[in-house]
Order: sequence, then C-alpha cells, then structure tokens
Amino acid sequence: MAYPNVQLHINGEWRPARSGRTLPVINPATEEVIGTCAHAGKEDLDEALEAAAKGFAAWKKVSAFDRSKLMRKAADILRSRADAIAEMMTLEQGKPLPEAKMETLAGADIIDWFAEEARRAYGRVIPARAEGVYQLVVKEPVGPVAAFTPWNFPINQVVRKLSGAVAAGCSIIVKAPEDTPASPAELIRCFIDAGLPAGVCNLVYGNPAEISEYLIPHPVIRKVTFTGSTPVGKQLAALAGQHMKRVTMELGGHAPAIVFDDADLDLAAKTLAAAKFRNAGQVCVSPTRFLVQESLYEPFVEKFVAYAKGVKVGNGLEQGTQMGPLVHDRRIPWVDGLMADARQKGADVRAGGERIGNKGYFYQPTVLTNVGKDARMMNEEPFAPVAMIAPFRDFDEVVEEANRLPYGLASYAFTRSAKTANAIASKVESGMMTINHLGLALPEVPFGGIKDSGYGSEGGSEAIEAYLNTKFVSQAGL
Ligand code: NAD
Repeated sequence: MAYPNVQLHINGEWRPARSGRTLPVINPATEEVIGTCAHAGKEDLDEALEAAAKGFAAWKKVSAFDRSKLMRKAADILRSRADAIAEMMTLEQGKPLPEAKMETLAGADIIDWFAEEARRAYGRVIPARAEGVYQLVVKEPVGPVAAFTPWNFPINQVVRKLSGAVAAGCSIIVKAPEDTPASPAELIRCFIDAGLPAGVCNLVYGNPAEISEYLIPHPVIRKVTFTGSTPVGKQLAALAGQHMKRVTMELGGHAPAIVFDDADLDLAAKTLAAAKFRNAGQVCVSPTRFLVQESLYEPFVEKFVAYAKGVKVGNGLEQGTQMGPLVHDRRIPWVDGLMADARQKGADVRAGGERIGNKGYFYQPTVLTNVGKDARMMNEEPFAPVAMIAPFRDFDEVVEEANRLPYGLASYAFTRSAKTANAIASKVESGMMTINHLGLALPEVPFGGIKDSGYGSEGGSEAIEAYLNTKFVSQAGL
C-alpha cells in the first residue's frame, strides 16, 4: 500500500507546515524512507492554539448527548477502516499486522467507553444545612489540552487522551509521534469525518521539546497530558507546575513479574514470555524483572528460554511474524549499551543478546540470568525484548526486590494461593497488578502508575476526571 505524506490538522484543515518543512518516516523493518511527516513551526503552533481556543468555546456548548453520538460514529468509522490503518501502523512502527489491527479495533472500543462516560459526567447534590439552600457539585471541561504521545502504540496512546478530552467537552492539540505519524492521523480523521467541528482537535508534529516548551506555558492551554519516559515526564511536569496547569503523566516502568512456587508453571512461563516479547518489549507495562521462587526457578528459565528461541522475528507484514523490529535506529545502540553493561557485570546470556542482521532494527528475544542489581538493565527501563530472571527465597525478599526501584506502573504475579495473591497485591507498590493472567489496559479499568511512573489514570471511570474541573455552587432561594 502507499504510505501517505502526513500533514498537520489545524482549525479543520489538513495542510503542510507553513514553512513546508517535513521529516522523513522510516520503515523500521526495511530502513526505507516510506513517506514524510509535516514539521510544525511556531506559526503553525500559534494557529493551532487559536483554533483550540475557538474550538473549546464551541465544543463546550455541545451537549454530552451529542458529543457521545459523534464519538460513537467516529468509533464505527475507525472499525470500518481498521485494515488500512493497521497496515500503515505496521509499516511505520514494525509491529505484526494482527497486533496493529487489534490496537486499532481496541481504539474504537476506547472511544465507545469515553462516549458513554461523556453522558455520565455527573455532579451531585449535597444536603444543605439550611432550608432552601441547594449545594451543587458541577463538572465542567478543563479547557484546551496539550497532549504528547509516543510511538510504541501510535493509536492507543492518542485515543485515550483524545477521547477523554472530547468526551469532557475540551479541545485538544495532539503532538503525535514523528516516528509513527500516519496511524494517529488516521484516527483523528475518523473524528473529523464523524463531524467534529473545526478547532476541537488539532494535530501537530515537529521537534517535541520545542513544541512542549511552547504549548505548556501558553495561556490557552489548561491541561497537559504526556506519555513517555520518566526523565522527560519530570521536565514537562515541572514546566506545567510553573504555569499551574493540570497534568497527567503516564511514564516508564520496570515491572516485576513474581512467580511463587505454587504457581501453574506452564501458564506463568508462557503468559509472561508472550507479554515480554509483545511489541519487541517496547511497552510501558512490559514485565521486566522475572522473580521466581527457588524451586521453580530452573524449570521456569528453561521454559522461558525455549519460548524466546521459538519467537518468529521479522517484518510485521509477513504472516506468522510474532515480533517486529525496534522502532528506530536509536534503540539499537541503547540496547547494546545495556547488554554490554550487563555482560560486564557477570550476566549469563541464556538466549539472544544480539541485533539480527544489519537491515532493519531487529533484535533477538533475549533472556538473561545472574544479572547483578547494580547492572543498568536492573535499574533503567530497557524498553526492549530483554527479560531478566532471578530466583527468590521468600515473600518478604520478593516484596523488597519488587519495590526496590522508584518505578510503580505494572506488576504481575502467579500463585495458586488466594492468600498469597491478596498479600502480594497489597504489598507491591504499583498502579496496576494482574494475577494469574494478563488483565491490564481494558478501556473500563484504571490505567496508570505511581511513584516515578507518573500520576493520573487513562482508563476506567477515573479517566474522564482528568479533563473535568469540579465546580461548587451553593444557591439560596430568595
Ligand atoms: P524519548 O524520551 O526522546 O521519547 C519518548 C517520547 O517522548 C517520544 O514520543 C518523544 O517524542 C517524546 N518526547 C521526548 N522529549 C520530549 C519533550 N521535551 N517534550 C515532549 N515530548 C517529548 O526517547 P525514545 O528513544 O523515543 O524512547 C526512549 C524511552 O522513552 C524508552 O526507553 C521508554 O523508557 C520511554 N518511552 C515510554 C513510553 C511509554 O509508553 N511509557 C513510550 C515510548 C517511549
């Protein structure tokens, strides 16, 4: 299929940057330039800000009922275009086509969820102390939103922010990922084609730091939402803090996956290995530190290694591919650096450990044991198809290791004991835990981290709150 030259969407118009500047888009499986992406400058951002201000003034007056109807239409359009959009996503991001299609369809489900939430942004009436007094709690849209999203889930990362904002009655400027620009643009096209008025959703690409430094302090913007690494998140949160903007931060993780000795070993190994190598490990909730109770440790390693060696790595467009390439050339030296450090600190490489070939950013599914706690990989988010497996003796030891890092996004556990399941769920410091299966990231469940993994939730009934102000009105009858 032909990959598009991706444009900006500002004030209801699809157009190039005013400067005409573009960035190349590269297929990570072939390293070929497949298209371009418009590079917004200050004049484009000013137009987007003006449009977002106008869009907000109009959209906040549209009833929740009508916002909801339009969103459902956008979801249906997205479903009807899923095959074509998934192919674009695989071309730009590398993930296997079925995963790209699943992400696109899941995007439609997320839109539907927020469409329902739009109609349920209830306030409340608080019993008053005096007769004739009405105490009302009213929910109002927070205002124009600046959203910054990464390349690992090009649709999913945008759709959660866009749907939350649009459902609440906000306008939004999305700074979508330059590495994977087409599929998020197609998502936004579904909203536009469903009838979203000009200015409600604006789309830009360019230099991420320049755009965030310009948009976040700007008086038009009332809310900032970012998904990406913890260091960048901290910078943006600090900037937002200086300007007193509401913030949601969906940042990095280093998820512990804990396997107790009473677990179903086959289920644990298969489920966790599949989760590890999904999207080549470029997933914020990816299981990363595999902590296995001593008696199951060796058999778990064996099964995990066998799974890793059997993963079919290749071009995501080819049938049967289970894992695509890393998303861009920067990721290869990053993983190589982590691997060199781990090897130097005594790690055993039980599977993988190298780049595959020299065309396309493919990396072997990798399994390491005996990785010292001082290794960078045990402390920094690898964001790569690398699993580190370590044994533990008892409950307290594994809790200490699980909570050792400043991250607190996802965590995993396998046990047949309800008592152990309850105990581990309450002791691990993370925003999400899933036990004996993979149960994270559905539209109707909360999604977010604690500690250095950020704050705010992008799923469940909490998610729309991020785009709403709470106003209190106390009214006495005359
Ligand atoms: P990066 O930190 O440069 O980029 C990560 C994302 O943040 C990109 O989408 C980028 O456009 C954006 N970004 C970077 N600086 C920004 C700024 N100043 N203002 C606004 N947006 C900015 O690096 P990368 O090589 O693309 O990814 C590296 C790391 O980012 C990964 O190792 C991982 O830890 C993290 N990451 C996390 C997620 C997630 O889902 N939480 C997704 C992608 C990347």
